[in-house]
Amino acid sequence: MAGSDSHTITTVGEAIVDFVSTAPGLLVDAPGFVKALGGEGANVAVGLAKLGSHSCFVGKVGADSFGRFLVKELEKDKVDVGGVVIDKVHRTRLAFVSLTKEGERDFEFWEKTPAGEQLLASELNSSIFKASRIVNIAPLLLPKQPARSTAFEIADDVKSSGGIVAFDANVRLGLWKSAAEAKRVMLHMARRTSVLRLNDEEATFLTGHATLERAAAKLRLLGPELVAITLGVRGSYFQAASSSGFIPGFNVKAVDTTGCGDAFFAALLHRIASVNMPIGDLSAEELTSMCRFANAVGALTSRKRGGAAAVPFPADVVRFLKRKNDD
Ligand code: ADP
Repeated sequence: MAGSDSHTITTVGEAIVDFVSTAPGLLVDAPGFVKALGGEGANVAVGLAKLGSHSCFVGKVGADSFGRFLVKELEKDKVDVGGVVIDKVHRTRLAFVSLTKEGERDFEFWEKTPAGEQLLASELNSSIFKASRIVNIAPLLLPKQPARSTAFEIADDVKSSGGIVAFDANVRLGLWKSAAEAKRVMLHMARRTSVLRLNDEEATFLTGHATLERAAAKLRLLGPELVAITLGVRGSYFQAASSSGFIPGFNVKAVDTTGCGDAFFAALLHRIASVNMPIGDLSAEELTSMCRFANAVGALTSRKRGGAAAVPFPADVVRFLKRKNDD
C-alpha cells in the first residue's frame, strides 16, 4: 500500500478474558481461576508487539472491568489500542479453561452476545488500515453478525487498495450455527486473503483433502498467495505459487500448547512485514527461513504456560535458533 509503514500490522478481532484453572483437571473440579488475555486476534497482536512489529489491535470490548483489563494487558505489551471500541450495552466475553493432567483442554465460553461480536464498520477509523502493511482478520469475528459483515468489509477494502489481508482460519464449531455455515463463510474469507494460516485438521475440514499438498493447493486456488499449515509438534508446511516445503518442528519439552498457532502466525506475519516485498516474490529459501522462525516461536511458546504471555522475545528466539544450529 503506497506510503504505508512496512512494520505496522493491524489485527482485527475479539479480545476475550481467559479464566485459567489454577489446578489441572476438568472445569467442574477447578478450585479457582487466574485471568489472562485471550482470543486469537489479541494473542497474535501481542505476539507481534513482543517480536518487534508495530502492532495495532482493533476490536470491541464491554464497558466493564474485564474490557478494561484487556485494554490494560494489550497496552502493557505495547500493542497500539487506538482502534479499540467500547460497547456500553454488551459485555466482554469470558472463557473458562482448564488443562487435564493428560494435557487435554476443557473449555467453556461465557456470554451469548458478547461485545466483540458487535463490531460495526461505521465505528472504525479507516486510517489505521491504510497505514498498515498487513491487516490480519481473526476468526472469532466470523460466526455471528454484525462482526462478520464488518470483517468482510475491512478485508474487501484492504484488498481493493492493494494491501495484504491475513487470515487465521481457526475453526471453533461450537460458536457456529452449523459446520456447513462455518465452512462456507471461512472459504469466503479465504478468497480475500493473501496469507492464510490453519492447522492440518482445519485444512481437511475446509477442503475435504487429507494430504497437505492437495489441501493447500485447493485453498490457494481461491486466492491466497501463501498457505501455511501448522502441524503441532511436527512443524509446518507452506505452499506458494512457485515453491512449497515441509519444515520440521523443534523438539522441546512442551507444557502447554495454548496459543502456539497464534504465536506461529504472529512470527510469520512479523517476518513477512519486515522484508516489505510482494509475497509472490519471496523465494523458497526465504519462506523456509520464515516458517523455521515461526516454528521456533511456536515451540518456545509451548514450553511455558499461557497463550500470549508465553510468546518469546526476539533475543530468546535468536538464542534458541543458534543453539539448534550448533546441535
Ligand atoms: P494450533 O494450536 O492452531 O493447532 P499448532 O498446534 O499446529 O497450532 O501449533 C503451531 C506451531 O507451534 C506448530 O507449527 C509448531 O511449530 C509449534 N508447536 C506446537 N506444538 C508444539 C510442540 N509440542 N513442540 C514443538 N513445537 C510445537
